[in-house]
Amino acid sequence: MRLVRCLTLAAAMFATPALAQIPDTVLLNGKIVTLEASGTLEALAVADGKIVATGTSDEIGKLAGPMTRRIDLGGRTVIPGLIDSHMHAIRAALFYATEVNWIGTRTIPEAMERIAEKAKAAKPGEWIIVAGGWTPPQFAEKRRPTQAELVAAAPDNPVYIQLFYSNILLTPAGFKALNIEKDEDVPPRGKLERDAQGNLTGWISGDNPTISGLFDRLPLPTFEQSVAGTRAFFRELNRLGITGVSDPGGFNLVASSYQPLFRVWRDRTLTVRVIYSLFAQRRGKELEDIKELTAMLPMGFGDDMLRFNGIGENVAWAMYNNDAPTEAQKEQYYEIARWAAARGMTLTQHWNNNKSVGHLLDVFERVNREIPIAPLRWSIAHLNDATPDHLARMKALGVGWLMQNAMYFQGEAFLRERGNEVMRLTPPIRTALNMGLVVGGGTDAHRVMSYNPFVSLQWMIDGKTVGGLATRDADETPTREEALRLYTQGSVWFTFDEAKRGTLKVGKLADLAVLSKDYMSVPAAEVGALTSLLTMVGGRIVYADGPFAALEETPN
Ligand SMILES: [Zn+2]
Repeated sequence: MRLVRCLTLAAAMFATPALAQIPDTVLLNGKIVTLEASGTLEALAVADGKIVATGTSDEIGKLAGPMTRRIDLGGRTVIPGLIDSHMHAIRAALFYATEVNWIGTRTIPEAMERIAEKAKAAKPGEWIIVAGGWTPPQFAEKRRPTQAELVAAAPDNPVYIQLFYSNILLTPAGFKALNIEKDEDVPPRGKLERDAQGNLTGWISGDNPTISGLFDRLPLPTFEQSVAGTRAFFRELNRLGITGVSDPGGFNLVASSYQPLFRVWRDRTLTVRVIYSLFAQRRGKELEDIKELTAMLPMGFGDDMLRFNGIGENVAWAMYNNDAPTEAQKEQYYEIARWAAARGMTLTQHWNNNKSVGHLLDVFERVNREIPIAPLRWSIAHLNDATPDHLARMKALGVGWLMQNAMYFQGEAFLRERGNEVMRLTPPIRTALNMGLVVGGGTDAHRVMSYNPFVSLQWMIDGKTVGGLATRDADETPTREEALRLYTQGSVWFTFDEAKRGTLKVGKLADLAVLSKDYMSVPAAEVGALTSLLTMVGGRIVYADGPFAALEETPN
């Protein structure tokens, strides 16, 4: 009896009205952008992976016990962890340990330096690969590198350089290793480029299947290299404040491609929350494959670190990059979409051009007449030149828009093709927000774009390309806070996570980033250079640098 009373008393002492639990960690003296009604706060407390209290440094400091980790933020800005709502992260991770990237290089010699560095470390005959994520306007020279420049940087290795899904540059050793001598050696539509004198330049042009087919002839990293790549890539994302991604699969991303990710998840060493959808692989067998793959994979299966989230961004090959689908092709798409809707699945669809998106919306509307799709949170990705009429149809269906910074790399080319009247409205971010459409921020990395979320945020707020060209009207430009919301609150809608992530408030997961400078006040041109000094996922410090470096918790 006495003991019981004693325990009750102890419980009453700890159960202060503010908090039932001693925090594991308190963050004090910060500028915490909560994206909630509470605005910007000084401090928050974390226990068991969640935020358990927010307030002034004084209030939160008092909650700390002797074992609580106290982190003095020194006035730094904290934001909710960034979430890229459309990133091919699983594939990027597979190759991260073995590929070279040109992200952030500003001249061709700088890019060649990265090739030369890799060549020094590589074995003779080992491939050196840059699989996209760059564009000529990022270089001061405003051109593509030449084969001679590549050979000078890596004389003894085959080199493969990919530019979007349109061009490949190979060194002579690369041509030899892949047995390429003529156009027919690069099916289905490869063309070896020649200069004015008729000599091969080393560049090959092609479409998406051609370039993907060529890439698949390169040796794959080993399983161990891909596991290491996955850990390293996710840490790199953590360095940039990313705590979550939505992954839409990709060409030739099959069950075996997911195994390194699954291993990292199983080891409890995943440091980015990955929500993934299934990309149809076999033309004509789409529904058959999806049925088989999902027989034991119900919608939403998984946990907060790794979860299945429906189908796409390829649902049916006949409607992928097809601006003029036939009625039969739309019928096939309808059958798959209706099947998904009947099973409560979300669906995300890659669509580039506004001029043809009406075909897709026709199908969505037809399904919606039978099964309301709004609760399923379907989405359309890309659609940079969306017009208000199509956005209104999306809004009416409850379909969200996955919007990325493609124009950061492609603005110059888009302006040449479409003219300024379209360019200045591309993409129509403000129009979509005014209509109440849900918009998710992201990059579409890594082949077509760099994965850096701060570069995407900078582009959202200043509308400038990597080459410095101003493209978008002020009317279509969100505020900094709105841009940040797209990358957090916007993104979590697509994965049904708004109660758990996207803002910082009591009860939500402790996913956040302490920034190198104040996102809200640095000059816009400096936003792209921001990094995280401390990134927390579910209360665990998965990345730390500078004054916080000692706090990083290495996964066991
Ligand atoms: Zn896409």
